[in-house]
Amino acid sequence: MIHLLFALVLTLIAPLQTPTQPQSQYALSYRLAMPRPATHLFEVTIEVTVPASESTGLIDFQMPKWQPGRYSIADFAANVQEFSARSQNRALTWTKIDDQTWRVQRQGNRTVTAFYKVFGNDLSGTYAQLDAGHASYTGGEMFMYVAGHKPDPVELHIDAPADWRVINGRTVRPDQRDWKYPNYEILIDNPTEVGPDWTVDDFNVDGKTYHVVVHSRGDEGGRRSAFVRDVEKIVRAEVRMWGPPEFDSYTFLFHFAADDRSSDGMEHLMSTHIIEPGILADRNAYNGAVSTAAHEFFHAWNVKRLRPIELGPWDWTKPVATRGLWIGEGFTQYYGIVMYHRAGFEDDAGFLRSLADTIETIETSPANKLMSAEASSMSAPFIDAALHRQRTNLQNTSLSYYLKGELIALNLDLLIRGWTRGQRSLDDVMRRAYDEFYVKSPNASYYLKGRGYSIEDFARVVSEVAGRDMTDWFAKYVRGVDPLPYDEALATVGLRLAKSPASQPYTAGILIDREDRQSMRLGVLRSDSPAERAGLQQGDTLLSIGGTNVTRENWMSVLNRYKQGDRGPVTIRRLRKTMELSIELGTPEQFDYRIEDLPNATPQMKMLRSVWLSAR
Ligand SMILES: [Zn+2]
Ligand SMILES: [Zn+2]
Repeated sequence: MIHLLFALVLTLIAPLQTPTQPQSQYALSYRLAMPRPATHLFEVTIEVTVPASESTGLIDFQMPKWQPGRYSIADFAANVQEFSARSQNRALTWTKIDDQTWRVQRQGNRTVTAFYKVFGNDLSGTYAQLDAGHASYTGGEMFMYVAGHKPDPVELHIDAPADWRVINGRTVRPDQRDWKYPNYEILIDNPTEVGPDWTVDDFNVDGKTYHVVVHSRGDEGGRRSAFVRDVEKIVRAEVRMWGPPEFDSYTFLFHFAADDRSSDGMEHLMSTHIIEPGILADRNAYNGAVSTAAHEFFHAWNVKRLRPIELGPWDWTKPVATRGLWIGEGFTQYYGIVMYHRAGFEDDAGFLRSLADTIETIETSPANKLMSAEASSMSAPFIDAALHRQRTNLQNTSLSYYLKGELIALNLDLLIRGWTRGQRSLDDVMRRAYDEFYVKSPNASYYLKGRGYSIEDFARVVSEVAGRDMTDWFAKYVRGVDPLPYDEALATVGLRLAKSPASQPYTAGILIDREDRQSMRLGVLRSDSPAERAGLQQGDTLLSIGGTNVTRENWMSVLNRYKQGDRGPVTIRRLRKTMELSIELGTPEQFDYRIEDLPNATPQMKMLRSVWLSAR
């Protein structure tokens, strides 16, 4: 009786709480203009109409601090200028209340229009570029959201210069200038190209349309139609693994930047934006774009739809923390290489070579003993193209979740194939996880279908496919830093890992500062290395080793005249003084890793290898 009465009281007071609960929807209409491209200034207008019942007199316009796919803070507000707000042509009072928020007083008006300019001159998957030749943007660096109203539907109109055409992954008509998006998260997940001279070529796979947009800022060498056919091979290989995608069309946006600088690849729900620093006529840029397409298209399933539970909807005021990027990025890294091979762009030897190169990078990294795959994911805001205002020791302490994740995927793939005698593979894990956490999972938010997975969910799916409890395996190799079981994994397909000292095996732990190209200034030294023991410090300038003057070109060969246990003098310059120290070489630091045939491989191993390599 008392409980029932208590419930009744709760019901009665509930309506009093409405002001703090989500308000009713606002009408949100965005307009993007670029009247003077050479100034690199975009012009954004946001018209907000609030319902008559709205009680708050404030509207907070907020610029995100980052956007998905790149997990470090980008501070897009830094490029916002000339903010103003008005209603019915009367200026409204506004205040900047923090580093990303402009607070506008409605002053009783229901419709408020905010206006600002965004400077953008980076051709990138995260930042925007407007110049005399085109406009390229993603969304989060361009559009503020109205705080509290990210779930509301939005409209966008683009005003392009005369004879500039607009295209993105949600374009349905060639002359389209208006788009409707279900919410802000989808608005900013739609990289858009505006310009006079991009091209689009289409192809069809299993009833779905694929658009290949190419903006070449350099010579194409007549290679575009071959390039489009090669992108199609990637699409076919990946659709063969996943099954039909849920979208009806998908757009590849390629930039061949011709600036020897801009380079990126960014995944989106209906598209990807891939930027090569070279030109399409150049074989390396061509191959780079195809292999990046293999990675990014895989993301259409893994990370965009099948995703760690923390990835969407987002809080744009702080970086996201997820333990799952070694799956979202690392498994995509593995499959990017796998699909490039399956689609016929690399032979078996080249495929094994790229896997061995990743093993070499990870196994010779000092951070491999310190940072787990999970910890690496949690550090993404510091290691994903992050800018640092202070010197850091990340070179010694941080590991790439792309590469460690790639190797976890490789090990799991081979182990599952071995344990199930070739009946199952990591492909089954991915398909089953996609099905369970995306296709068949109810919407957990306004953002997207499904709810995303926790690491424990994912480990459970791996256990189900592998036919054994993988809890300990995850504890050792995912949450822990135990060396991956390469021998066991590679043996299932009759291969083994071989390791030998590199031709110049000694570095003494010296790293030359990459920023300072003039001198031999030292960067972060490797922890517990001969250089550190000799008393060298970051910032010292290395002058000679063993009496021989050294340069950026010769220092490794001069150092490698010495062998393990040898001691030699090094001369350095520190704080305007010249000093001599003595260095004693330890064990080799550089190794070459190879994946090679296991002697006496059984027919079963060879059969599993051919299944793995021939993609069935
Ligand atoms: Zn362009
Ligand atoms: Zn990726």
